[in-house]
Amino acid sequence: MAECSLANGTRGSKTPPTKDGVTAAELFLEEGLTYNDFLILPGYIDFAADDVDLTSKLTRRISLKAPLVSSPMDTVTESSMAIVMALCGGIGIIHHNCTPEFQSNEVRKVKKYEQGFILDPVVMGPDNTVADVFSAKARNGFSGIPITENGQMGGKLLGIVTARDIDFLSREQYKVKLNEVMTPRELLTVASSGIKLKEANDMLQKSKKGKLPIVNEKDELVSLISRTDLKKHREFPLASKDEHKQLLVGAAIGTREDDKDRLDMLVNAGVDVVVLDSSQGNSIYQINLIKYIKQKYSDLQVVGGNVVTTSQAKTLIAAGVDALRVGMGSGSICITQEVPAMEQDVKVVLYEGQQTPKMMAVGRPQGTAVYNVAAFAREAGVPVIADGGVSSVGHITKALALGASTVMMGSLLAGTTEAPGEYFFSDGVRLKKYRGMGSLDAMETNKSSASRYFSESDKLKVAQGVSGSIVDKGSIHKFVPYLIAGIQHGCQDIGARSTEVLRDMMYDGKLRFEKRTVSAQVEGGVHSLHSYEKRLY
Ligand code: GDP
Ligand code: 5GP
Repeated sequence: MAECSLANGTRGSKTPPTKDGVTAAELFLEEGLTYNDFLILPGYIDFAADDVDLTSKLTRRISLKAPLVSSPMDTVTESSMAIVMALCGGIGIIHHNCTPEFQSNEVRKVKKYEQGFILDPVVMGPDNTVADVFSAKARNGFSGIPITENGQMGGKLLGIVTARDIDFLSREQYKVKLNEVMTPRELLTVASSGIKLKEANDMLQKSKKGKLPIVNEKDELVSLISRTDLKKHREFPLASKDEHKQLLVGAAIGTREDDKDRLDMLVNAGVDVVVLDSSQGNSIYQINLIKYIKQKYSDLQVVGGNVVTTSQAKTLIAAGVDALRVGMGSGSICITQEVPAMEQDVKVVLYEGQQTPKMMAVGRPQGTAVYNVAAFAREAGVPVIADGGVSSVGHITKALALGASTVMMGSLLAGTTEAPGEYFFSDGVRLKKYRGMGSLDAMETNKSSASRYFSESDKLKVAQGVSGSIVDKGSIHKFVPYLIAGIQHGCQDIGARSTEVLRDMMYDGKLRFEKRTVSAQVEGGVHSLHSYEKRLY
């Protein structure tokens, strides 16, 4: 205890003991912790937030300028998401709850993406009606629609319908077929495939048209250029690209025999990294597949997982993975750790005779999982992807501070314009669907999702995820830059100029952590207000 002697004018000789938090090693000595269970203490700032370098390794050989990965879920990542994630410095992993043809085509769209070219425009046929165009406009926001013979991309170009062709029509004329109102092929300005964006720009300027269809030598539609896009042409200095300047993209596959055919198709489409998608990755199936891929496609980067313990990580590293995906049961839609109960808002179905649902009650709090696996994998030079349980930008900073190189997100990116699926309204709120890949909903759509969470011999399906909806978040074009700025601010507060420095500080014990009590969590949230508006960016 401090002593205080005023009689001789001196202050007490002993300073009360103080301690600025604990090291990560001390923090994770005992019980498992989630991101919400601790905070990082601030450091010293002598640089601007913008100067923080977030370059991080996704795999042994691939680096990203933004440590952000979109999850292979059918309500999160198809080509639109993967394109914008890569433009903004991260990467998208295309889900495999679809046919191999569909998935490899999505990969191809990302690899073929050229800024300014719409490779997959909405196309209609001559027999579609004006009403179809209006409903497409209501759904997508644009009305410039190329008309092809078969109503699809790759069909012979017959004309184009734009707002100017139909905006004077009365309701009675909505039944009119498009071949009667479209601007026909002979009046169109078109360009040949292979045209450079600059030349296309000049053609649109000269012709004063709003759309420039691009056709091949057989006059079949291959892409479309929109004047609006050329006017708002932007630079993407962080874009993730390969040596041919094409965007990077990943794809998920399962670990069954027929996934080898899927793999071949994905490689043919140009995939840069495959993610072996298992909720418990430490299996003979995954180990065999890693060895098979490494032998057949030695250049392809392979992400193994999911794992949450060092012993799981050890076998996958020994098998040759280039990165590990860490997380089990922490996802927002996940019920793997729960023993199912018939809750009102969670649809869990247990079938008659099902005694011990597989993998229920198994998992690990995400903070502890990331810290332990990352510390172990670091010795072998294998980067860690912290997967799931991220519901704010602070969680991303925490994952990186615990040793993860990148962070994979599902719910945080769902509900954005680029996420698959259409918006719908419920009680006046604009929503999109978001569902776990182990939800009955997803498993009933396609076999590959079921295979992640079950073995073929499982006769009864038990959900390990739920299906729900998520509020419209706008475009990833705005949301990802917000996440990047948020991580940079977090690093600045900590005093880390880069994610590499952040990790070094953690392993050196310079980064200090403190547990949060329940009341500390309440204090850390918005409180004591009658009402408030939460606008993040
Ligand atoms: P429109 O004249 O009604 O077609 O609309 P604008 O040209 O003003 O805007 C179209 C915007 O939607 C551009 O930014 C396009 O890149 C974008 N877009 C995305 N997909 C498509 C598509 O399939 N067709 C068209 N026409 N535009 C698309
Ligand atoms: P979120 O970012 O929404 O918290 O979590 C996304 C992650 O949850 C995914 O990347 C995936 O690892 C995991 N996940 C996706 N669907 C399911 C599911 O149905 N059950 C479980 N246990 N995990 C899921």
